Amino acid sequence: MAVEIVQTTPMPPAIQQALDRDYTVHRLWEAKDRDALLKEVAPRIRGMVTSGGVGAQPPLIEALPKLEVISSFGVGYDSIDIDCAKRRGVIVTNTPDVLTDDVADTAMALLLAMMRRIPQGDQFVRQGRWPKDKFPLTDKLGGKVMGVLGLGRIGQAIARRAEPFNVEIRYFGPRKKAGIAWRYYDDLVAMAKDVDILMIACPGGKETEKLVNAAVIDALGPKGYVVNIARGSVVEEPALVTALVTGKLAGAGLDVFADEPNVPEALWTLDSVTLAPHVGSATHATRQAMGDLVLKNLAAHFAGQPVLTRVV
Ligand code: NAP
Repeated sequence: MAVEIVQTTPMPPAIQQALDRDYTVHRLWEAKDRDALLKEVAPRIRGMVTSGGVGAQPPLIEALPKLEVISSFGVGYDSIDIDCAKRRGVIVTNTPDVLTDDVADTAMALLLAMMRRIPQGDQFVRQGRWPKDKFPLTDKLGGKVMGVLGLGRIGQAIARRAEPFNVEIRYFGPRKKAGIAWRYYDDLVAMAKDVDILMIACPGGKETEKLVNAAVIDALGPKGYVVNIARGSVVEEPALVTALVTGKLAGAGLDVFADEPNVPEALWTLDSVTLAPHVGSATHATRQAMGDLVLKNLAAHFAGQPVLTRVV
């Protein structure tokens, strides 16, 4: 008898095929009556596949009395109620490392696109304006100071990419990191005062909610830039939008937002902003690698072995 699992959201095709081959999969997002489906299958469900975007909240976790493991597609687990999983003795896994390079690439792409107005230059050429008009000058990246908020796997990968562009790195986080020479701040406003670019790369969730508030944005000032590839929840979005609209911040490169997929319309027309639809890890290769890790964690657990990338 195949192990029965619930799946909250679609997976890449090859991963879905493997799930369907190895398990009896109940697809919650497709169910006409989700509650009825859950009620019927709940007593047999031992695993859950979800994503960082959809997560797993107490009503779902509590509805599954035999649940043993939640295998999540994505490194961020702020959308999964970890306390509830712990209380229930449910193992939670995520997909760290395999996405680090792509997310760091996306951060650098957003930074350069925003500072050098690459999307606007593209439109300038496509709209046939080049023969008649001059494209405005932009800001130089080299020589700037970047403050990384959350110098973890992705934060460090961004810092390592930024250094060869002649960008000086500093960082803020809960603790100074051993073996890291970059200057550490234990005060985010103090760091924001000293840097040109605030690179947000910490986890989402309650602990970091609205960490980048009006005071931090104010400290960055009218020549300052923000790049957020972490979570929209880390930023006080209305304060960011107001600062961008009023020119109290020079620009922002944003992959994540407070209420995805809804993005404040005030940002749509701003040249100082480059926007992306949460695509930090969205390459074929990386999504496959993330899916492979989701499968490996499930397979290890149901083979009675330790999972590979355990959160709790
Ligand atoms: P990680 O290795 O765990 O790094 C997180 C870093 O944030 C750590 O250095 C940690 O410091 C720091 N941190 C923790 N709490 C903090 C706080 N309250 N204030 C400031 N810094 C804090 O995780 P990662 O793999 O780099 O991923 C980071 C985040 O990126 C994920 O949680 C996810 O939300 C986001 N992400 C976004 C995308 C996208 O598509 N845009 C894709 C993947 C990930 P310590 O090491 O000292 O604890």
